[in-house]
Amino acid sequence: MFPELVVSRDRLAGNIRAIKAILDRSNIDAVAVTKGFCAHPLIAEVFTDNGINVLGDSRIQNLKKMRNLPGRRMLLRLPAPSEIDEVVEYADISLVSHYETARALSRCASKRGQTHSVIVMIDMGDMREGVYGASALYDALANIMSLPGIKLEGIGANFCCIGGALPTLEKMNELRRMKEVVEMEQGIFLQTVSGGNSSNLSLLLKQPNSSFYNQLRIGEAFLRGRETVDDQAIAGAHDDCFMIRAEIIERYSKPSAPSGSTGGTGFGKAPAFVNKGLRSRAICALGKLDIDDQQLFPIEEGIKVIGASSDHLVLDVEDCKSAPELGDVLSFKLGYASIMRSMLSPYVQKRIL
Ligand SMILES: *Cc1c(COP(=O)(O)O)cnc(C)c1O
Repeated sequence: MFPELVVSRDRLAGNIRAIKAILDRSNIDAVAVTKGFCAHPLIAEVFTDNGINVLGDSRIQNLKKMRNLPGRRMLLRLPAPSEIDEVVEYADISLVSHYETARALSRCASKRGQTHSVIVMIDMGDMREGVYGASALYDALANIMSLPGIKLEGIGANFCCIGGALPTLEKMNELRRMKEVVEMEQGIFLQTVSGGNSSNLSLLLKQPNSSFYNQLRIGEAFLRGRETVDDQAIAGAHDDCFMIRAEIIERYSKPSAPSGSTGGTGFGKAPAFVNKGLRSRAICALGKLDIDDQQLFPIEEGIKVIGASSDHLVLDVEDCKSAPELGDVLSFKLGYASIMRSMLSPYVQKRIL
């Protein structure tokens, strides 16, 4: 059945080993972020089989799916006030930014006779979660530190998610200073500094051992084998752990530009097309319900993605060496958004090798 998502666990294991080797050089532990593949247990288990001790996800449902795997589980999204019980039940560590949230976790953990670990997030300019500014951080730490049932495990930051703020050397030094100042002034030791995500790898590759932080939460780089700032391949890693295969349902020579007056599509404004005359075009049974067509990379040379609607993928196949025909199956590598969407799509068969 097509479309079919093929997941190579061997290749993924290679990526985990390649990235772990980079992190090990700087004494950084990896949290494997599983939301990109909906925490599919057969894929998550490749991480725990290859030396990863913490699995992180933004959704409680996903942590629940992985409860039988070894190691610790981290909730990546700030706990919602309505899900505190489940957070304490299914996560060992959560990322927090409000004292009130930590207090609710504390009450719940105390009641259950458990200890729940928290990492206090700092907004370093990406405009997403975290306390903003040094004094907000001091207050949060001072208050959270004394909560029963809570272990203040450390501090953390996130980059390149909303604002696109890069984890530059300056930013990381800023984080380092914050850590040093709070440790000195508050007389505490922060066991964990969770320095960011896949976007931190770029700097780490250029300047190994320059880090003071000891944890990164890595999702995309593990799955795609590339760092995410310059999209460079990581040595020894693969970018085809996830591949989608789709069937051709139409193949004709047709005009390369729309005719008549044009308006929008169901997804907004239609792009501008260059008129190259008649071109060999294929339509695959695959669409925006299954993938993001901006993040779909044909394996075969000479194929160009023209666009997709919800269920149709239109390709220019004029420049292919061997012309694809009706019923042929084409393979594509995927960007992170496409991996996520195809894992989510009930229309896509999953073949996990
Ligand atoms: C999703 C997420 C990550 C992983 O980001 P990648 O860019 O995929 O490595 C890390 N931290 C948090 C808080 C996240 O939500």
